[in-house]
Amino acid sequence: MATAQKISKNTPPRVTLPGTKFHRVRKTIQSICVTIFILLPLFDVMRVDLVRQRFYFFGAELWISEFSIIFLTMMFLWILIAAMAMIYGRFYCGYLCPQMIFSEAANAIEKGIARVVNRKLTDISPRARRSLTLGVLFVILLPASVFFSFVFVSFFIPPADLFHRLLSFDIRTAGGLVGASVTLLTFLDFAFLRQRFCTAICPYGYLQNMLADRHTLQVFFQDDSGKCIHCDKCVRACPMGIDIRKSSHQLECTHCAECIDACSGVLGRMGRQTLIHYAWGDAGRNEAAERRWYRRIGFRDGKRIAVLVLLTLYATGLAIVINMRQPVMVRIMPNRITLYTKGPDGLIHNTFRLVASNRGKTDARVTLSLADLPAAQIVGVQDGITLKPGDALQREFDVTAADTAVAPGVNHLRILVHVDPGQKDQSLAETFIAPMESAAPAVKQN
Ligand code: SF4
Ligand code: SF4
Repeated sequence: MATAQKISKNTPPRVTLPGTKFHRVRKTIQSICVTIFILLPLFDVMRVDLVRQRFYFFGAELWISEFSIIFLTMMFLWILIAAMAMIYGRFYCGYLCPQMIFSEAANAIEKGIARVVNRKLTDISPRARRSLTLGVLFVILLPASVFFSFVFVSFFIPPADLFHRLLSFDIRTAGGLVGASVTLLTFLDFAFLRQRFCTAICPYGYLQNMLADRHTLQVFFQDDSGKCIHCDKCVRACPMGIDIRKSSHQLECTHCAECIDACSGVLGRMGRQTLIHYAWGDAGRNEAAERRWYRRIGFRDGKRIAVLVLLTLYATGLAIVINMRQPVMVRIMPNRITLYTKGPDGLIHNTFRLVASNRGKTDARVTLSLADLPAAQIVGVQDGITLKPGDALQREFDVTAADTAVAPGVNHLRILVHVDPGQKDQSLAETFIAPMESAAPAVKQN
């Protein structure tokens, strides 16, 4: 039976639940993450589409011209990741990071192959067995690298387009070259680099350590009463090859909790509790505060609650902005280089430019009409224009009126923009310029 461990005054609040198998929890979360990683670009849930210059984000198709929304969305994701690092430490590395997931998978595959080869081929040299293990591993890693590179590049190039390039072994165009390079790098990463990437290259690991403070979740070794049996199982279980007993603040530690499982496994058989735990930083225990649910999930000081409020407000604002954006964008600009022209029929012409784009997923019909200047008419786009999804066009049109029917000089009018299907009508205030009564005909004549 497990005995209750003595908790000293300085014992950090523990997060480890008795009997928790973090390995199982981690593998479940990682499987969900891999599934999401594969589905996100394939179903246009998230992609920075470099070919079409679009940003797909949870059903919204943002155009590159909507840079402000894209920028705000990217900023939100960065703040979210930074906030997560501050509260939950390197939870991302241990549970969510694709690099870690695939590195661990490559380790597991290699171990499995080595086990089979060593058991079945006892009559060949260890060196030959090692070579055979690596050969089989590389044969498995090659198609896996192609597949995961395909998924990764699909975050930037539409998958159908990429698939076509893949089938035709395209290594001449920029897209094909990028795909081939990513595949090669992925293969080298899976085959040789793996977790070394985390300590040698990844900047996010360093960033997370900088964001941590005295309340951040960490993996903590504590042995106040000398119960460690020095079995070194925690060291052997560590995928990063470190000894957590030396310090909880080692740069290599990804908070994966394999050492917690190892220690609880070995000491559990002796009826003792693990000496390694998840803990909320190095702060002393506050029994009264521990009963509050928000402290138990990591919101342990005002800074964290302020970050949560900020993130909630930011996400709400962003959702409103994305939902309020109109799928069909229409802008109208007057041509004021030539103020007006006069036709042989005596009509005054003012030229405008219509700029329209359809960022939605269905055809849209744009029609214009005039208000506040009854004598004026639209010529050029009077029948409206149809925009297919993704269309963007610019077209000039005239507003005409008889000079006898409008005031000399500036006349005010509104151009009404109606978009079908259902978008709120726009009313754009414009001016119609007519010749001054006394003005010499200094303007261009048709
Ligand atoms: S010390 Fe423990 S938590 Fe840190 S990387 Fe090693 S096994 Fe994972
Ligand atoms: S697994 Fe536990 S008991 Fe064994 S060396 Fe590590 S901390 Fe000590």
